[in-house]
Amino acid sequence: MKSPNPYKLLLFGASAVAICCVFSFLIIDLLFSLRINWLLITGSFIIVFTLSYFVFSFILRRFIYDKIKLIYKTIHTLKVQKEEKIKDIDIHEDIIHRVSTDVADWAEEHKKEIEDLKKLESYRKEFLGNVSHELKTPIFNIQGYILTLLDGAMDDLKVNREYLEKTEKNIDRMIHIIQDLEIISSLESGEIKLEFSKFDIIALTREIYELLEVKAKRKKIVLGFHEGISSDSKIYVFADKEKIRQVLTNLIDNSINYGNENGRTKVSFYDMDENILTEISDNGIGINEKHIPRLFERFYRVDKSRSRNQGGSGLGLAIVKHIIESHKQTINVRSAPGVGSTFSFTLKKDY
Ligand code: ADP
Repeated sequence: MKSPNPYKLLLFGASAVAICCVFSFLIIDLLFSLRINWLLITGSFIIVFTLSYFVFSFILRRFIYDKIKLIYKTIHTLKVQKEEKIKDIDIHEDIIHRVSTDVADWAEEHKKEIEDLKKLESYRKEFLGNVSHELKTPIFNIQGYILTLLDGAMDDLKVNREYLEKTEKNIDRMIHIIQDLEIISSLESGEIKLEFSKFDIIALTREIYELLEVKAKRKKIVLGFHEGISSDSKIYVFADKEKIRQVLTNLIDNSINYGNENGRTKVSFYDMDENILTEISDNGIGINEKHIPRLFERFYRVDKSRSRNQGGSGLGLAIVKHIIESHKQTINVRSAPGVGSTFSFTLKKDY
């Protein structure tokens, strides 16, 4: 509904007062002289109309100014800019409409702000819940082993070493979780700056293969390259080398963790004009299609017990996605249960 125009109200009010006065003059005039003095009537109409117009205008302006100032004060912390906004109020325009539009804009802005804060709050709660859940298991395990040792197992030569080794494994797991948490929180807070340089991604993959060789051998998994890549092949990319080391380590480590005994991990590279596409594929347990959309979320796991047994923090893929996206590149996954998985990402090519 359109709000009444104050200017029209003002004209209407001043006319009403002037007409009332003129009628009073007319009646008094008729009563005393029994004739109509048109000059006096017209003159008094103009004078009364002008006077009441200015009086009404002043009152209306004050009234609107005070009320609107109050509204603007409520919705904004009143700054000079806003004061000016109020002072230049023109009663000829539809002020009520203007104020209601400003209030609606403000409400919309704040609704979004509140929604964002609510989302952040639930993310914070969920994150804290996940972190404490992740840390609870190794802490309780450590407590269990230590208590058993103190209760007498310490003197039992058959189990004391085994319990200490298990304690050490759980401490390792906690360290891994904390390191991943540190990486993800610095990536999310935008603290980490990328340091771009030109490097050979094949050489980097070889370095990671060397580090993970022992782990792969335990499961008899062969780490290799796509055919066509020889010992002197080089592919240059322009990226943050250390961050890409982290990406490749997480993906190759996963291919071993979720790979089958006697399996294989293969890294391939494809030239895509401006970019190099890197693929890490395994013939392991694979992932059901329904899990794919959530796979890169923090702490998301397909098989919780298997992941924890491997010492996984559930943050590896979230870190990978963050790093690739901060390079303004993309990451993808193709997988089929029982067949295997392929994770692929792009990086800027260098020459
Ligand atoms: P985690 O520490 O549990 O390995 P990630 O974020 O690295 O955490 O991976 C999330 C989940 O994705 C894993 O728990 C696992 O279920 C699944 N996953 C990751 N990589 C593979 C893979 N190569 N094959 C099968 N499943 C995988």
